[in-house]
Amino acid sequence: MKLREYEAKQILAGHGIPIPAGFLIRSPDELADRMTGLSEKVVLKAQVDVGGRGKAGGVLFADKNSCTGVARELFSRSIKGIPVTEVLVEQALDIERELYTAVLIDRSSKEALILFTTEGGVDIEETARNHPERIRKARIPLIMERVPSFMLRDLVQGLGKEIGPVIQNLYSAFLRHDAVLAEINPLVVTPAGVYAADAKLIIDDNALSRQGIVVNRDQTERERIAQSHGFSYVELDGTIGVIGNGAGLTMATLDLIGHYHGSAANFLDVGGGADKDRVREAVRLVATKPGVRVIVVNLLGGITRCDEVASGIVGAGIPQKVIVRLAGTNEQEGKAILDGGGYIMVDTMEDAVRTAVEMAS
Ligand code: GDP
Ligand code: MN
Repeated sequence: MKLREYEAKQILAGHGIPIPAGFLIRSPDELADRMTGLSEKVVLKAQVDVGGRGKAGGVLFADKNSCTGVARELFSRSIKGIPVTEVLVEQALDIERELYTAVLIDRSSKEALILFTTEGGVDIEETARNHPERIRKARIPLIMERVPSFMLRDLVQGLGKEIGPVIQNLYSAFLRHDAVLAEINPLVVTPAGVYAADAKLIIDDNALSRQGIVVNRDQTERERIAQSHGFSYVELDGTIGVIGNGAGLTMATLDLIGHYHGSAANFLDVGGGADKDRVREAVRLVATKPGVRVIVVNLLGGITRCDEVASGIVGAGIPQKVIVRLAGTNEQEGKAILDGGGYIMVDTMEDAVRTAVEMAS
């Protein structure tokens, strides 16, 4: 789950990384009571869960006197489609240089990957694309509690001596908070020292309860319900709903959709041995996602019984057409239950997917 900037900054501050003085407001009127604590120049930053806020108009500068008006303006905007409901008000920094540093999981080497470049700021993607050699890298095994000094020296190469400790502390925060990404962009150099002017922390979804996070904000309501039923469920933005049993069959169904140039709206793996109640909940859940035009149910009967699956599909009573491919245990009984109910029954998954792609387009 992605933390918001103000949450990430509090965590970094707790690990000894300097952050600008500031506070969060949920309406422009809250500024009135806090004027005394404000510096002459302030930055107002929309706390929306998207990258590139600066370029999208989510970061505004103001004088102490004008900041209420600027805050009103910011609260009236939506940034990349997301309405602004929280604004971080910070003292503006006198920026001399913008650096970039991040710690992330390198999935191929199963290590932590530390990145650093002196070309931080809003154009970091461009640097990564056009001048990847300007981004310095170091890899360390995750069992290491600290970044060795020689690695820090290699990364910062003669820059101010405050930079190394920031990377060290960022790595500690990354480990302690079970992060998959901890990023400071920009890490700014000012006459008063270095500061994390922006911060991003993504917590491993599998570690949320250990981190004391009860609700995964990144999940949709449907993803939450799916999790409570023990379904593996993922939302995409196409038009075909997909239900399978087992990760392999479900992924293969998605691959076939791609092969026939269709697009999945979501997919759900009911797991092994699903009975009619589970199937009914699964079909209903997949059907409620906006944009689902047809649903493909691709199930192999083993421990799972096709007659239970069929009863679940019928019980769901959803408005969309359902294309069913059932094979295996009690296949004939299953087909008999579905027969005459307006379901499209096919024998192979190729047929199922091809039909779904045609109907959805
Ligand atoms: P992002 O676009 O979502 O990454 O938002 P950032 O918080 O990184 O801000 C974007 C850019 O605004 C930074 O790269 C800085 O150039 C600038 N910026 C942010 N905070 C300050 C500040 O306190 N003072 C000044 N002068 N510029 C800032
Ligand atoms: Mn940034």
